[in-house]
Amino acid sequence: MNESVEIMVQRIEVPELVPARMLNEYAYCPRLFFLEWVDSLWASSSDTAEGDRRHRRVDAGGGAAPLPDEGELKAARSVDLASERLGITAKLDLLEGSDGGVVPIDTKKGRPGRDGTPWEADAVQVCAQVLLLREHGYAVERGEIFYAETRQRVAVEVTPELVTRTMRIVAEARATATRLAPPPPLRSDPKCPRCSLVGICLPDEVNMLAARQDSRPRRLMAADPDAVPLYVMEPGSVVGIDGGRLTVSKYREMLASVRLIDVLKVCAYGNVQVTAQAMRALFERDVDILHFSYGGWLLGMTTGLPSKNVMLRIRQTTAAARGGLGEPRRMIAGKIKNCRVLLRRNGGDAVTRRVAQLAALADQARQAEEAATLLGIEGTAARLYSMLSRRCSPVRTACQARASAGCGTAGRRQTR
Ligand code: SF4
Repeated sequence: MNESVEIMVQRIEVPELVPARMLNEYAYCPRLFFLEWVDSLWASSSDTAEGDRRHRRVDAGGGAAPLPDEGELKAARSVDLASERLGITAKLDLLEGSDGGVVPIDTKKGRPGRDGTPWEADAVQVCAQVLLLREHGYAVERGEIFYAETRQRVAVEVTPELVTRTMRIVAEARATATRLAPPPPLRSDPKCPRCSLVGICLPDEVNMLAARQDSRPRRLMAADPDAVPLYVMEPGSVVGIDGGRLTVSKYREMLASVRLIDVLKVCAYGNVQVTAQAMRALFERDVDILHFSYGGWLLGMTTGLPSKNVMLRIRQTTAAARGGLGEPRRMIAGKIKNCRVLLRRNGGDAVTRRVAQLAALADQARQAEEAATLLGIEGTAARLYSMLSRRCSPVRTACQARASAGCGTAGRRQTR
């Protein structure tokens, strides 16, 4: 490391207190900790969504706990604690009174380890909570974790070894947070496939590009997002926001209302307006707005701040190109076939001839010799589909739109 970089490292300011939840992440994987706490990257997976849901339930009863000398505690939820001496902060899911002392109980979505003991990362988090409570004068023998999947309460014994490990993680996490770049990914670790950030971290691909791994990347199974594109094709309609829902209206008549969390992107055809309030809500959720002409030509895109992973994606594309066209061919041909099926079901006689063209394009995609040819076929199919899908229905969401997203985003996805 040269001198100028060292100076930069020293100047990076790290918050005084590390949240106990982030100690859990660090114990699981230092890179995950960095991506979440330092880079503020977050990706929802079914696990995190379920975890959030359960936490929302425990957070709902938020309250304060009496101090140790203010009387006996029965139960308190969502208790905030912090200690500058320890360098930790935490929000306790649940604090229960027990034999003159208290027990912090943390809720986790999954299940304990095979031997019925808590996972190390969970134990570190609860140990940090116990240390915080002791620091504030509470008598605490142990912590507990409620694993929601098996509905088990598992005790966390706060041994001297666990305390040492927890405090070492606090120090390491703070030191890691001062670095300019995240730690390298774990190598061929079974934790990665279940990690919520695997699609952002790309452990095998990054290791391969950095020559830390010889084997081919494990196949990344992209989560099937529950969200789908919202296609707005009604001339003169306005896309607005009402609470947590996107609304499509015209002359004050509501045409559609969908939950914001269900929208992957907004495709506005022709004279469709999107209010500033709706745009802000969409950007907060990383949802882009694509503007098409009446005829289905993509004219432009309104998007929030760009992802910092762009350069990484470009290198991935290069790496993928070196790896051959087999998978991109299959993927693009499959998506064109999906589009064809949807048009056949919903387009009627008017689209019969074009449907046959899509079938031919799917065949050509399967046999494409070069990446440029494959991209051309994909683009032609996307244009054809966009044009024809206008004849199906004015405002479409759900399954139809999901398939058409296959064409619209094919260029992005085929790089994997
Ligand atoms: S995918 Fe693996 S290496 Fe990357 S952050 Fe998650 S656990 Fe760490």
